[in-house]
Formats: sequence, structure tokens, C-alpha cells
Amino acid sequence: MTGEVIETPSTLRTRTRSVAQRLAEHPGHRVPFSVEFNPPRDAAGESRLWRTVREFERMHPAFVSMTYGAGGSTKDRTVRITGELATETTLLPVAHLTAVGHSIAELRSLIGSYADSGIRNLLVLRGDPPGDPLGEWRKHPGGVEYADELVRIVRDLGDFHVGVASFPQGHHRSPDLDHDTRHLAAKLRAGAEYSITQMFFDVEHYLRLRDRVVAMDPIEGAKPIIPELMPVTSLRTVQRAEELCGRSLPRSVMARLEKAAGTGPDEDRAAVRAVGIEIATEIAQRLIDEGAPCLHFITLNFAKATSEVLTNLGYARHASTPAVA
Ligand SMILES: Cc1cc2nc3c(=O)[nH]c(=O)nc-3n(C[C@H](O)[C@H](O)[C@H](O)COP(=O)(O)OP(=O)(O)OC[C@H]3O[C@@H](n4cnc5c(N)ncnc54)[C@H](O)[C@@H]3O)c2cc1C
Repeated sequence: MTGEVIETPSTLRTRTRSVAQRLAEHPGHRVPFSVEFNPPRDAAGESRLWRTVREFERMHPAFVSMTYGAGGSTKDRTVRITGELATETTLLPVAHLTAVGHSIAELRSLIGSYADSGIRNLLVLRGDPPGDPLGEWRKHPGGVEYADELVRIVRDLGDFHVGVASFPQGHHRSPDLDHDTRHLAAKLRAGAEYSITQMFFDVEHYLRLRDRVVAMDPIEGAKPIIPELMPVTSLRTVQRAEELCGRSLPRSVMARLEKAAGTGPDEDRAAVRAVGIEIATEIAQRLIDEGAPCLHFITLNFAKATSEVLTNLGYARHASTPAVA
């Protein structure tokens, strides 16, 4: 987006809020939701992102997050657009900050750029090796080894609100769930105020994660664990969903999607989409029933599928029909 940045009392009020404050302030009659965007690759992608941003703005998400390309491949555009979300919309942006490929000096400079553009909320992550998330992890010679160190660096730099990642089935590098929970609790103790989970399709995994953190550390366990979900809209997006889950989709979920796809040479896309939205709605409803503090949707920079799930849940009554696919 181009044009003069206009600071209004409303944008200023929003961007100084923390995610935890936004969740606490949310009117009690429904669970808040939030959405995740990705940095667009080009001008066309940026235009589409802004159409999507404006659609979501009408639906009043608690916050919006912007991912960070591992190693900083789209750094300048990411920082600029996330800053514009802070100053040119009424939304509360959260910038993902990944350690991989950066020295501590570079990370400090990046955090400074976010601060200069009005960002106070950061989701602090280690990141994965670029090109191969499962490849060998190599710490940058001047960087950090684990996310908890970066949480401390961010907190020491000033008035930032920090979230971290959590993994309902355990992180793929964790030898067991006990190890995984211990290090999640350590990140929260280091100063994170909440976590956002890796995407999942079996709500039991989310509930067990919540139980594990409370059992290991009741104080840290009281912090919000925000579940992440994504409506699958085609068999093609299953692969993306599996990358984001770090696991194959459950057999029962795949069976429903494959049945909808039909046996013909071409996938019945409308039927797959309808079932994908139905599955996401069921997961979201169960999460609401189980007291999740917020529903965080991966959008892939489209508004329509998430908006349909929200409508099914009775949320989007005051929103207009999204114009984007
Ligand atoms: C909600 C969400 C958003 C994400 N956004 C992005 C993004 O924008 N860009 C991107 O590149 N990636 C993103 N990721 C992916 C993330 O960077 C990877 O999953 C990464 O592998 C783990 O990051 P982390 O911050 O959880 O790492 P860490 O917390 O450092 O954990 C990594 C592994 O090390 C273990 N561990 C942690 N501390 C210690 C210790 N002191 N001693 C021994 N073991 C330890 C942990 O148990 C875990 O197995 C996201 C993930 C999630 C869930």
C-alpha cells in the first residue's frame, strides 16, 4: 500500500495494546478470532493482501499476524507492510520474528525497525533451516540457539509484548512431549505472554497440550494457548496444511476430503471446499466449547474461507460478503 501514513487516535490506541489485553478486553459473548497473513511476493500479491486486510478489518479480529520468511528473504517488504497494518488500519498487528540466519545484531536492528514502524507485539520464533524445515539446524555464528534466548533479548530491548509457538503433538525436534512442554514453559517464563499453536486437525492434541503445560507449571499454564486452524479448500492445499501441521492429516479427515473429491479424473472442487469448511467449523466449534481463548486462522491471504467458517459459527453477522476467493 502506498500513500501518506496518517496517525489517528484510534490506530495509536490499537497498536499499543498487547494481544493478551485484547483477549481480556473482548466482549464475553463470543470467543475472539485472529488471522495470519504471509508477506506477499509481488505488487499483485500485495494488492490482494490489502483487499483481504480490509475484509477482515470489518470483522474486528482481536489481532492479525504477519509471518516472516525464514532467513529474511522478504524482510523489507514484510517490515513495511506490517508497519502499515499498525498505522493505516484499525487492526492490531503481530510481527513474527525468527532467529534463523540472523546474528543478534541483525535481530536487534530488525526489532528496532518494527518498533519504528509502530509494532509492539512480536511472535518470537527460532525458525527452520531455509529450504528444508527438517534439515540440520545450524545456529548463526552470532545468533541464538533457541527461541527462549530471543524472547529475553526482545524483552530487554523495551516495551514489547511477546508470544511464542507451541506444538500440540510436540515439535518435530523434541525427543518427547515432556521435553517439549518443559521448553515451552521456559519460553513463557522468559517473558512470553501467550503461545500460538502449530495447526492441528485433532482437538484432543490441543487439549492434551493445555493439560501438560498446566500440570508442569500452573503459573505459565494459565497463559493463553491460542489454537491455529486452517480451512482446507482443495486437495492441493492439503499438502500445505501438512507442512504447517508438521504431520499427515488424520486418516478420518483425509477420508472425508477424498470422498468429496469423487472418483472422476478431476477433483470435485466445490465439494472438497464445502467439506473443508465443514471440518474447520467443527474444529472451531469444539475449541469454543472447550474454552479456547481465541481462534487463530491461517488465511493464505484470502478472506473467504475463514469468513465462511466464522459465519457458520455465527460471527460475521455485521461483516459484508468478502469479494476475494
Ligand atoms: C504459530 C506459529 C507461527 C510460526 N511462524 C513462523 C514464521 O513466521 N516464520 C518461520 O520461519 N517459521 C515459523 N514457524 C515455524 C517455527 O519457526 C518452527 O516450528 C521452528 O522449528 C520452531 O520454532 P520455536 O520458536 O518453537 O523453537 P524453540 O522454542 O527454540 O524450540 C525448537 C526445539 O528445541 C527445543 N528446545 C527449546 N529450548 C531448548 C533448550 N534450552 N535446550 C534443549 N532443547 C530446547 C524445543 O523443545 C524444540 O524441540 C511458526 C510456527 C508456529 C507454531
